Amino acid sequence: MNNSKLDISKRLKKYLSPQVFDLLVKCGIFIEENSANLFLVGGSLRDILLNKSPKDIDLTLVNGNSELVEKLAAYIGGQIIFKSQFFTYKIKVKNSVIDITEARKEIYSSPGSLPEITSKCSIDDDLYRRDFTVNSMALSLIPSKFGSVTDPFNGINDINKKQIRIIHDNSFSDDPTRILRAIRYSIRLNFKIDYKTLSKLNEFKNNINLITGFRVKNELIKIIREDSRSKILLSLHNLKIFDIIGLKININNQINKILDKFQFKKEYTDDLILIGILTYNLDIENIINITEKLYLDSTYIKTLRDTQEIKLFLQNIKLDNLNNSSIYKSLNPYKDEAIIINSYFSNTKVSNKLNLYLNKLKYSIPPLNGSEILSLGAKEGPRIKEIINELLYDKLDGKIKNKNQAIIKVKQILNS
Ligand code: ATP
Ligand code: MG
Repeated sequence: MNNSKLDISKRLKKYLSPQVFDLLVKCGIFIEENSANLFLVGGSLRDILLNKSPKDIDLTLVNGNSELVEKLAAYIGGQIIFKSQFFTYKIKVKNSVIDITEARKEIYSSPGSLPEITSKCSIDDDLYRRDFTVNSMALSLIPSKFGSVTDPFNGINDINKKQIRIIHDNSFSDDPTRILRAIRYSIRLNFKIDYKTLSKLNEFKNNINLITGFRVKNELIKIIREDSRSKILLSLHNLKIFDIIGLKININNQINKILDKFQFKKEYTDDLILIGILTYNLDIENIINITEKLYLDSTYIKTLRDTQEIKLFLQNIKLDNLNNSSIYKSLNPYKDEAIIINSYFSNTKVSNKLNLYLNKLKYSIPPLNGSEILSLGAKEGPRIKEIINELLYDKLDGKIKNKNQAIIKVKQILNS
């Protein structure tokens, strides 16, 4: 092994977990034994060269096929959890997930359309279909070449110069989603966009309206998941990208501040909250237009609609004057994410009440259950549910503090 290979192996060990490192070595051994070739590619290699831990593991298989991927998964004790018609696979091994793509060549018949794909090709062909030089490098994982880097477009040089550069002049015209990707990477990595790349970006930026809503949605989701989401969105806004796509998204100071304040929380769907923040100030027609254009599913539609209904409700009612049971009744029909979105736009008093609902009121359970109420002499029927609710509301308002008080209340109701 020469020095640079040694250096790369050291970095792999440093920036990958020991489990993932061992897994990649094992994959390389199996693939070479089967006369194929395996590379670490894309963002994984880019991030390691940038002295960072990669977000995911991207591998490219050359000279293989789906059968070999299946055998590989079995060999490493993993399972294929996703497989697409575009020769891509996800394998899960214990807690790790690796993305494998069969090396492929792409031919674009018209700008923005999905490419025609052929899977039998070399690693160089595969690197040529990629977006930017810094993402178009490959590192051998097979034992006989472990650690050697293929860098046909001088990606390492661009990493050193901290710049995003397309690998050929038609890149943005072939796939205009790369315009969104260029801006996302440049802001995430704090890289500049190379001069010629920027001029091509401007030349082809109108092509962005040729990409399907589905692909725009995927890129938008990637953007809002970034830490620097507000800067990326502001940059897209300044380039008039949303106008070209026909999405009326208002990016302003207030939205930016909220996006910066946003914190991921395990128990909620963050994408819903972030899209809700972006569309909060729009009128309903524009919101419907966005859900249709981006093919957002029914969960998004319900969340965005709930968000607007709560917003209207909060404009008309002073939440901090309501007792707990009224807050509970008012907010219970709505999705939690819609309540969270509104809390970001509310003053402290109101947002404290919204959080009281989310963290406490929502989880309150009635002091007695149906069979306990029946045993006190109630008759079966819809009235039972009403009594359960009355007990819950009294508990929320502090009028019932324990089971005994609940039993007394039920007896009163039954005797009245
Ligand atoms: P991240 O760090 O967010 O995972 P990444 O660069 O690894 O970023 P992925 O979405 O994981 O991005 O894709 C892996 C690789 O696939 C990219 O690095 C790039 O080489 C290639 N790729 C993805 N999307 C495109 C595209 N639209 N055009 C060309 N190449 C692409
Ligand atoms: Mg990746």
